Amino acid sequence: MQMLHPHRGSIQQYMEQIEDPDHGRPSSCPQCRNKEPLRAHGFYSRTIVDEAFDGWIRIRRYLCQACLRTVSLLPEWALPFMRFSIPVIAKTVKARLMQNQIWKVAAPAAPHEPGEPDQPTAPLPQVPPPSDEGSAGTALPVAQSQPIESN
Ligand SMILES: [Zn+2]
Repeated sequence: MQMLHPHRGSIQQYMEQIEDPDHGRPSSCPQCRNKEPLRAHGFYSRTIVDEAFDGWIRIRRYLCQACLRTVSLLPEWALPFMRFSIPVIAKTVKARLMQNQIWKVAAPAAPHEPGEPDQPTAPLPQVPPPSDEGSAGTALPVAQSQPIESN
């Protein structure tokens, strides 16, 4: 299960704070309601794109000793399965709706996927630009995550 964890500040500050397992440790299990504080249970990594950051962050995990289920503390600016931070998504939607920009202009450039070539080897077929009316635009890439350490 994932819990949103209030955090205001830079991503660098977040990464320093989560080194302390007591910072944000749930005092009881949100799943089985056991009243014992959860035990630190390592981290997993996921990608996030913010205005000044594009890379991997660690997410703190806790284990409930009673039900043996884990709880992850997701910083409140990172949505599950979404690669872009909430401020970046909000800025994109605001530019689309308030400044009437097309999605392609309003959205941040899609980050470069590891292993992708810099240039396509064959020319891409010419696709007409999306119309400004009702265009769904380009879908935001999905966040990647991978488990690491479990101590
Ligand atoms: Zn539990």
